[in-house]
Amino acid sequence: MFRAHLETWRPYTLSYPGLVGLAGAVLAGDPGPAGLAAAWAVPTLGWLAGLYGGDYFDRRLDAIAKPHRPIPSGRMRARTALTCMIVCVGLGAAIALALNWRTAVLAAAALAMGIAYSTVFKARGLSGNLLRGAITPLAFLVGAMCATDWPHPALLGAAAVFLLQDAASNLVGTLRDIDGDREGGYHTFSVRHGPRAALRAVTLLVGCWMLLAAAAPAVLPRTSGTVLYLAMFALASGLAAGALVMLYRGIDPARALRAHGVLVLERTILAGAFVGLGAGPALALPVTAAGLAVTWVAQRAMRESYEFGSEAVPDQAQVLGYVDERLTALDAERLTALHDWDRRIDIEVTDLGLRIALLTENGTIRRVPAAHLTETSSEAGASSHISAPRAASEATTSRVASEITISTTAAVFRDIFLVGRTNPRRAYLTGGISMRASARDMLHLNQLFNEFRRTAGGPPRVAVREPEPAAPVAESLPPTVVISDTTLRDGEQMPGVAFPVEEKIELARRLAALGVPLIEAGYPAVSAEEALAVRAIVDAGLDAAIQVIARPLAGDVEAAVESGAHSIALFTGTSEAHVRAKLRTTPEQLVAGIREAVALAKQSGRNVVFAAEDATRTDPDFLVEVYLAAAEAGADAIGLADTAGVSTPWRMAALVRRVAAACPLPIAVHCHNDLGLATANSLAGLLSGASGVQCSVLGVGERAGNAPLEEVVMTLEAAYGHRTGLDLTALTPLAHHVAALTGQVVHAGKPVVGGHAFVHESGLHVDGIVRDPSTYEPYPPELIGRERSFVFGKHSGRGALRHVLDSHAVGLEERQLSALLATVKERRGSGPLDEIALVQLARTLLLEGQT
Ligand code: MN
Repeated sequence: MFRAHLETWRPYTLSYPGLVGLAGAVLAGDPGPAGLAAAWAVPTLGWLAGLYGGDYFDRRLDAIAKPHRPIPSGRMRARTALTCMIVCVGLGAAIALALNWRTAVLAAAALAMGIAYSTVFKARGLSGNLLRGAITPLAFLVGAMCATDWPHPALLGAAAVFLLQDAASNLVGTLRDIDGDREGGYHTFSVRHGPRAALRAVTLLVGCWMLLAAAAPAVLPRTSGTVLYLAMFALASGLAAGALVMLYRGIDPARALRAHGVLVLERTILAGAFVGLGAGPALALPVTAAGLAVTWVAQRAMRESYEFGSEAVPDQAQVLGYVDERLTALDAERLTALHDWDRRIDIEVTDLGLRIALLTENGTIRRVPAAHLTETSSEAGASSHISAPRAASEATTSRVASEITISTTAAVFRDIFLVGRTNPRRAYLTGGISMRASARDMLHLNQLFNEFRRTAGGPPRVAVREPEPAAPVAESLPPTVVISDTTLRDGEQMPGVAFPVEEKIELARRLAALGVPLIEAGYPAVSAEEALAVRAIVDAGLDAAIQVIARPLAGDVEAAVESGAHSIALFTGTSEAHVRAKLRTTPEQLVAGIREAVALAKQSGRNVVFAAEDATRTDPDFLVEVYLAAAEAGADAIGLADTAGVSTPWRMAALVRRVAAACPLPIAVHCHNDLGLATANSLAGLLSGASGVQCSVLGVGERAGNAPLEEVVMTLEAAYGHRTGLDLTALTPLAHHVAALTGQVVHAGKPVVGGHAFVHESGLHVDGIVRDPSTYEPYPPELIGRERSFVFGKHSGRGALRHVLDSHAVGLEERQLSALLATVKERRGSGPLDEIALVQLARTLLLEGQT
C-alpha cells in the first residue's frame, strides 16, 4: 500500500516544487524558519494534491491510452486518491492561509488550473504545456508570499523563468510517446505539428528562460549569492543545451525519455540557483544537493520500469544468464506439484535467435543444451539444477513425455521478467508469448513462471493496467482455455446427491478420458471419507491435475495438502453479505486470513488458486484488493465466482476486465445458472481476460447448478471455432452417466446432449436439411458422435416424406403420399413417429392399396 503512494508521488519530481517555493521565499524577503518551512511545504503538498488528483481524474483516460504510465489508476482505489487529494489541499491551504491569507488567491488559481489541466487541457497542444507550466510559477509566488504580503513585481520575471522551463520540459515529455498519444486522442503539440516543430518550440522556450534567468541578478530586488547563482545557472543551461543537442541528433522515445530525465535534473539545479541568489550557499547547496539526490535515486529506481523504450532489450548472454540465475534461485519445495510432470520446454527468443531448453523431471528443472532432443541426467551439461525433496528416484534417462514450445521476443522477456511491466498472462493473451502446450501443461507452466518471477523479486507489483476496450465484450478467446470440471465437488453439492467413492474414481477417469485438464475432486476437510476419495483419485494417476477446495483455515489447508491434490483452491466469500453476515469478520481480517492461508498452502509446493465467492456482488475495489493480497502471498491463479448466479454477460465482462487490469494472475470464472446465464457469463469472462472456466457435466450443482460442461465446450467449439482438445464424442455418454448417477433424466431439450438436439420434424426444416444440413443445425451431429434424425407429425410436409421414403426405396404415388401425410398429421398421442415407423406405415398403405 505504501508503495502505491510512493509510486503515485513520482519521487523524481517531488523535490522540485518545494525548491521553487523556497526560491520565492528567499528572493521576496526574510521568511524566517516558519516561513521557509511553509514555502517548502505548501507547493509540495500542492504538487502531491495534483498527483492524487491526476490519479483520480485521469483514471480512465490514462488507463486506456497509457497502460504503462506511472500515473494514474490501478495503484489505489479512486476513493483513496480523492481523499488524499483533499487532505493535501486542505493541509496546504491551512498552512498558507495561517501565514498569509492573501495566498488564498494563488491556492484557488492552482486548484482551478490543476483540474483544468487534468480534465481538459492535458490532451490539447501547447495550451496544455503552458497551463501545466503555469503551475510552477504559482509555487514560486506562494513561496514569496510566505515571506511578504504581496511579491515585488520583479519576481514575476523569475516566475516566468519557471513557467517557460516547465513548458519546455513538458513539451519534451510529449515527444516520448507520440504514437500512444495519438491513439489515445491526446492532441499534444507533438501530435499536431510533429516532433521537429515541437523541438523548435522547445528550443525557443529554453532560449527565452535562459535570457530571463541571465538578467535575474540585475533585476531582482534582493540578491546575495550572485556568483553561486551564475555558476548554477550556467550548469543548468549546459544541461538544457545538452538535452537539446541529444534531441537534435534524433528523436525517438528512448532519447526523449533521457532528455526529459536530464531536464528534470536541470530544473532542480535552476531552482537551487534561485535559492542561492536569494539566500546564498548555506541554504542553496544542501537543499539542491538533497533535491538532486532524491531525483537521481528515484529516476533510477522507479522511472525506468514505467516507461516503454527506456532500456535496451537484453542480449543472448543476458537472457541466458538471467534464466540460469533464476533456476539456481528456485526453491524446489515450492514446486512439488510438478513431480509427475516430465516435460521438455523449448523457449525460443525469436529476435535473438536464441533457444533455451528446460527439462522438468521428477520435480526438478534444469537447463539443457538446446540442440539435443534428449539428455541423460548425469551428463546434461546443465548449468543449473535443483532437486525437489521427493526427487530421490535415480532417473538415468529422461523419458520426456512431451514437448512444450514457447516463443517470445527479448522485449517481452524483459517486460515480464526483468522490469515486471507486464505479466505472463497478459503477454499470452495479447500474443506477446505464444505457446504450444496442452491446457494441463499451461497450469504447470503458470506455476513455474510464477515461481520464476517470484525469485526475481523487485518489479512493481502492478505495473500494468490493461486498457478497458470500449466494447463490452471483445471477441477473442485465449489461445488455450483451461476447462476445469467440478462435477465431483459442486456437482455433488446438488441437493440429495452423494457419490460413492468408486463412482467418484470412475467419474474422474471418464473426465480425464474426455480430456478435461483440471478436475475439482472434492473438499477434503469435509470428512475423512471425502479426503480418502480425493486421495484415491490422485493415486489413480490420471492425465489431469486434481484440485481440491479449502477455506482459508489452517485445518482446511492441511487436509487439502494431505489429500495429495496437485492444486488447492482456497475460497472465501468477499461480498458485504458474506463478510459481515456469513463469516462475521471485517474486510481487514479477511484479507489477513487470506494472505496467511495462501502462504501456508504455497509452502506445500502445490498450485494455489484463490477463489472469491460471490465476487460478482463484491465491491470491485475490495475484490481487487483481495486478489492482490492473494497474489502477493504467492497464489498462482485466481477464481472469480458468480456464486448466486446473478451476473449478466456484460457485467461479467466488465468485472473480469477490471480484475485482469489490476491483478497479474490467470483468472478462472465459476458461474451459476440461477438466471439461465451460466454459459453466457462463462463465455463473457473468457472473452474479457479470463483463461479458465469451471463447469460441471449437465450443469449439476447447487440450486440451478453450474455452467454445463457440454454447453461451454460446444459454444467454444461451434461458435468460436476454438479447439478445446476434448474428445467431443464422449460428452453425450458422460452426460447420461452423470444423469444416472444423480438420479435424473437428461431432458430431451438439453443442449448438445438432449434427445432432441438433432431431431427435426417441421417439413420446412427437413426440406432444408436434406438440401444442406447447416440450414437448421448448429454443427454437424457427427462432430460429437451423434446422428440427425427426422420425426413425423403435425408439422411434416410432402417433401420430407418423399425424401425419407425414397432413401428406403419405398415408392408411393402422389395420391398415396397425400393419404400418408394426412394419416401422419392426424396421428395423436402415441409420441413422435420416427423413420422406421413411417416406412412401416407407408408399406402398410401400399399393401392396402394392392388389395
Ligand atoms: Mn459453486
